[in-house]
Amino acid sequence: MSQTSEAITTYTQLCEHVVETARLVTIRALLEWDERTIMPTAAGPYRAEQITVLSRIIHGRRTDPRIGDWLQELSATDLMASSHSAEATTVRCLQRDFDRQTRIPPALVEAISRQSILGQQAWVAARKNDDFQTFQPLLEQIVDLKRQEAAAVGYTGCAYDALVDEYEPDATTTQLTAVFAALREELVPLLMAIRSSDRVPTTDCLHGEFPIDVQEKFGKHAATEIGFDFSRGRLDVTHHPFCTTLGPCDSRITTRYDSQFFSTAFFGILHEAGHGIYEQGLPSEQFGLPPGMYCSLGIHESQSRLWENLVGRSHAFWQHFYPQAREAFGAALGAVELDEFVSAVNTVRPSLIRVEADEATYNLHIIIRFELEQALINGTLVVEDLPAAWNEKYREYLGVESPNHADGVLQDIHWSSAAIGYFPTYALGNLYAAQFFQAAEAALGDLQPMLAAGEFGPLRAWLGEKIYQHGQCYPAMELATEVSGKPLSHEPLMAHLRGKLEPLYGLA
Ligand code: ZN
Repeated sequence: MSQTSEAITTYTQLCEHVVETARLVTIRALLEWDERTIMPTAAGPYRAEQITVLSRIIHGRRTDPRIGDWLQELSATDLMASSHSAEATTVRCLQRDFDRQTRIPPALVEAISRQSILGQQAWVAARKNDDFQTFQPLLEQIVDLKRQEAAAVGYTGCAYDALVDEYEPDATTTQLTAVFAALREELVPLLMAIRSSDRVPTTDCLHGEFPIDVQEKFGKHAATEIGFDFSRGRLDVTHHPFCTTLGPCDSRITTRYDSQFFSTAFFGILHEAGHGIYEQGLPSEQFGLPPGMYCSLGIHESQSRLWENLVGRSHAFWQHFYPQAREAFGAALGAVELDEFVSAVNTVRPSLIRVEADEATYNLHIIIRFELEQALINGTLVVEDLPAAWNEKYREYLGVESPNHADGVLQDIHWSSAAIGYFPTYALGNLYAAQFFQAAEAALGDLQPMLAAGEFGPLRAWLGEKIYQHGQCYPAMELATEVSGKPLSHEPLMAHLRGKLEPLYGLA
């Protein structure tokens, strides 16, 4: 056998193993989806055990010594010749995963898995009862376990780097701090100018009677039009909206409804549909292998943000959808003009809830969490003092005061489910989204007339060609440079925000 045919045999063995592991990962995702949507509350403890068993099996497969042997054998073959090929990408990404997974002891993997499910269940109750005290010991255990994980994985900068790396490969605290600081430096003066503007768009039209069944129908319709394929996906209800993938033709999105407020569900659906469209656009024949998987969570979030904000809050988008919205929600929107509605969905107002924050202040919500979770992991903040530190930062950065913990420190699911290091990917998503949208306009011409005509296909096809079809073949930062011709920067996002908000607030 020549070197190449031996390499192909090894590569096939490796892929078969990894694809089978992916089947287990998606079975676990199904259990998690069920847990967060329709599972009876009392089933919680047993579900935690089911997920823990699967996590143990999955971790065992991901650290199988044969993977190390296969990867070593492949690293010196012709299959690695072209660095962005499917084969080279598979070897590079799996080596990275293998190195990380083998450093984490199985007992720690199990402990984190169990604690994250129990933590999540406790969080739902704690948030409902506005009770941080009962939740505190669970969160302390989670922080402790994540610190153990960081120590096991290892790092060169700070412990937090090791956790960020799981969600945004190669991103470092130093790099994120720099780009967020540059963003904050330009964002804060814009927000100050908005705050002192005497033009205050009203959001009254977004509050009123929005029957939930009509919201669901209208949201599904908009998701379909922008490109979410319901023959390969579903929309369901949850406490904390998310998107998950259960297979190459099974993308699940979720939302929550408020019958008195339009924005929560609608923009939530556009957001999650953006995630789903990305998942549905990945090469399905490579499902479970790195070339068939999303690039990074920052890139994933760029797709949700792009559809939710760059497209979904544009005047052009509503030129197309507003007549339909008015017909659907006659009682609430009948007397509201298009311009008034578009101004309302673009209003900037510092607020308490991240998921309902406007496009501009949203980034400050993230910077707060980025700073707090770093402090928790690096040991400069203890969980007991977290609510006070949280409130302090909200006063300082956003000038708002939380009346309770439910809308304060308990508002997000992430920490309860051991997802520490995840938040920065949201702000990265905003940055990437603006950068990609700018690049799409440079390539396709003015997108506004297309959006106004309800033509979402050209933009989606461009995203597919530039981003979706590559899976993990380019690392995130490299992909951004490849797509937009320049490295990640805060400038496109600031240009987008200024372009929209300065006229709205009479600042231009
Ligand atoms: Zn998202």
